[in-house]
Amino acid sequence: MNPTASPDTPESALDTRLIHHAYQPPGGFVAPQPAVHKASTVIFPNVAAMRAREWKDKSGYTYGLHGTPTTFLLEERLCALEGGAQCLLVPSGLAAISTVSLALLRTGDEVLLPDNAYGPNRALTESLLAQFGVRHAVYDPMDLADLAQRIGPTTRLVWLEAPGSVTLEFPDLVGLVRLCRERGVLTALDNTWGAGLAFSPFDLLRDASGTLAVDVSAHALTKYPSGGGDVLMGSIVTREPAVHLRLKLAHMHLGLGVGANDVETILRALPSMGLRYRAHDKAARTLARWLAEQPAIVQVLHPALAGSPGHAHWQSLCGAAHAGEGAAAGIFSVVLDARYSQAQVDMFCDALRLFKLGYSWGGPISLVVPYDIASMRKRAPAHLAAGTVVRFSVGLEDVADLRADLAQALQTLDR
Ligand SMILES: *Cc1c(COP(=O)(O)O)cnc(C)c1O
Repeated sequence: MNPTASPDTPESALDTRLIHHAYQPPGGFVAPQPAVHKASTVIFPNVAAMRAREWKDKSGYTYGLHGTPTTFLLEERLCALEGGAQCLLVPSGLAAISTVSLALLRTGDEVLLPDNAYGPNRALTESLLAQFGVRHAVYDPMDLADLAQRIGPTTRLVWLEAPGSVTLEFPDLVGLVRLCRERGVLTALDNTWGAGLAFSPFDLLRDASGTLAVDVSAHALTKYPSGGGDVLMGSIVTREPAVHLRLKLAHMHLGLGVGANDVETILRALPSMGLRYRAHDKAARTLARWLAEQPAIVQVLHPALAGSPGHAHWQSLCGAAHAGEGAAAGIFSVVLDARYSQAQVDMFCDALRLFKLGYSWGGPISLVVPYDIASMRKRAPAHLAAGTVVRFSVGLEDVADLRADLAQALQTLDR
């Protein structure tokens, strides 16, 4: 039966006519935002088309899980954002990470993680991946020689973060990727911080030997692409068709899909992402510099600030962006002097009024989280001052109000 020639004859019962109604609105409707297409079922025009279905590329539609015009649109825009060629959408940033590891690793393989990796990536590696016989090791992201000596004959994948989670050390990403390429090991970058704006993961360096690129960029769209603190989604961008196909197969077998309304929300927020990223960056640097002058703070961890771990690497990779000011996400950490007890640091966090206690970042509301770094790292990083780490995600509130909030909360420390 051809759905475009639906029976809408007066002989059909009303129930049938309401479902198979023949009216089609005129084509040519153009509006600022794209339409939202929702589907589990996709209707084929005939059996031949159904048998000839193709879900591996964007040549057609087969089933809601394999793509709709709405998801294709977002995927293509994210390819443009990150400079890749193929994209998969998944229900969260963590799902992007898990899909990459599950797709590219098998029993007997080894995966390497930086010591400052996103915590749940490490937890996945230590639990499910270990259960499937995938081994792992942790490397020092600030030491190329350490990674070089850890890559072994069974190493298949190296995870990268620039900068690392919470402590925000900026590694020599170019050096790390080049090393992995020389050893024939796949690289997957968690690109949530750079977001496609601070640097280009598929165009890290151009020289006589070509363009240096990561193999996979995983991105928590939950953060800046959403910008609202209200949507969970992730993306996996690649440039090599063969790598994409392995990921696409895993994506299909795992049954991963995203809701059309969530995709719509991200499509709506993407045009303002560059503006928001700059605004978060500017406010975060202002507050980070101010905090660096406060006597209670012994260290500020923000890659764009001179003296922060890996600042020179940030400078060379992200320093040219934004007319020479460089680009950075609006997130940084501080180390509070070791003379303050954990209880005092907790009181400082509780005393903040505009900065709310909560995970994630990239939304309009400023957030704060105290961390126990000793419990999170294999090796105590020598470049960290003694004390308690507190991470701030700077929202879009007025920066003077945020500074005043920090100032009043700092006063509670010495009370
Ligand atoms: C938030 C985050 C993730 C996970 O994203 P979710 O959508 O919350 O699962 C992954 N990596 C980094 C660096 C993140 O900040």
